[in-house]
Amino acid sequence: MQVSDNLSGNDSEGLTVASLKNLQGFDALNPPDPKLIDSCVHCGFCLSTCPSYRVIGKEMDSPRGRIYLMDAINEGEIALNTATVQHFDSCLGCLACVSTCPSGVQYDKLISATRHQVERNYSRNWLDNIFRKLIFSLFPYPQLLRIFLVPLFIYQKLGLQKLVRWTGLLQKISPRLAAMDSILPDISLQAFGDDLPTVIPAQSEKRYRVGVILGCVQRLFFSPVNEATVRVLTANGCEVVIPKSQGCCAALPEHQGQTEQAKALARQMIDSFADANVDFVIINAAGCGHTLKEYGHILQDDSEYCQKAKDFVAKVRDAQEFLVEVGLSANLSPVTDKTLTMVYQDACHLLHGQRISLQPRQLLRLIPNVKLKEPIDAALCCGSAGVYNMLQPDVAEELGKQKVQNLLNTGAELIASPNPGCGLQIIKHLKLQGKDISVMHPMELLDYSIRGEKLEV
Ligand code: SF4
Ligand code: SF4
Repeated sequence: MQVSDNLSGNDSEGLTVASLKNLQGFDALNPPDPKLIDSCVHCGFCLSTCPSYRVIGKEMDSPRGRIYLMDAINEGEIALNTATVQHFDSCLGCLACVSTCPSGVQYDKLISATRHQVERNYSRNWLDNIFRKLIFSLFPYPQLLRIFLVPLFIYQKLGLQKLVRWTGLLQKISPRLAAMDSILPDISLQAFGDDLPTVIPAQSEKRYRVGVILGCVQRLFFSPVNEATVRVLTANGCEVVIPKSQGCCAALPEHQGQTEQAKALARQMIDSFADANVDFVIINAAGCGHTLKEYGHILQDDSEYCQKAKDFVAKVRDAQEFLVEVGLSANLSPVTDKTLTMVYQDACHLLHGQRISLQPRQLLRLIPNVKLKEPIDAALCCGSAGVYNMLQPDVAEELGKQKVQNLLNTGAELIASPNPGCGLQIIKHLKLQGKDISVMHPMELLDYSIRGEKLEV
């Protein structure tokens, strides 16, 4: 089959076929593996679970279509150019296709290799370039981002944000900047400092010594989630270690193909825990957890760090995965006097990336009075996908709308979300739909329950 058979309109103009020679393609450094490409039997089972295909509706914006494209570029039949790259960019990296595929196609490895190739071998237009540079030079560096938060704090406190949103001006100037603004949470003074000590003793008899990763977005905008995680861990017999030298886990640059930046951040993270002498490394953000578990792959060509990366990965656990694995030792109390109807939102990098779906539900069901509901399309991405909602706002908008509607349709009074990005996306769409419902991390709910504190819902 020729890729151009599946293209229409502008697509086919850009994807000129085999007769052209010397096309800009992938370089020799880890192109998408032809063996993995050949494992796709083109059955199309993955299409219905692919969020980009659901919204855009084109074959080339589906897993199967993208695999065709990778193959054709590998074969020199088509070029790596604007027409092809747009279809790789439209992928949310949610990995739903990996869960769905009956042939076990490792699309995660294919799209990861492709993204790194795109960033090395394709020149983006200047505006796209600037926007991406802004994201990559700020977001993975919490200390730098804090400086940037100062004008944003003033922007919010002076009411300029409300004015800008009311005029719709930003949307006209730059839909991407408007998307960024739309998910910006209220900046509190807590965002400007890390209050947690380096070592926090277990509240009861010590069972484990664990490291905790603070995350970038999490530590700035959701520091109460980190504090709750630490309290839950210490209440369950863990001595917690938080090395100050830890930085970003590398999820953002890794997902966007920034090879060297991702490697440098992964090495820094490994080094920061090198002398911590911990039994486990705990992370409470789904996207970060998935990347931390990929360090062996990210640093596979680094002779000094490849073994260190494997040793590090062996200790990484999602917070919920860890608690179910070792069992709770703390008692849980009701967080409401009456039944609390709650819905758990699966984050893609937990559900598809780490195969963690039962553990959060098990923990939430342990809280007395909690009644857990299931939404339809639970496995479909909410559209956040790291920085996807800023880079591809139109597709993200539609997915966010659908996700929140499905969560609301359960009749839940509270939404439990295990990832900061998903939380921001859901909060935004709840507001847009005029709903005032709390979104909390499962670790916050466990913390309330352990402390015997009541929620206001
Ligand atoms: S990726 Fe898997 S599910 Fe999708 S078309 Fe290929 S073989 Fe079928
Ligand atoms: S990762 Fe998600 S968006 Fe990308 S092809 Fe797979 S299902 Fe579609």
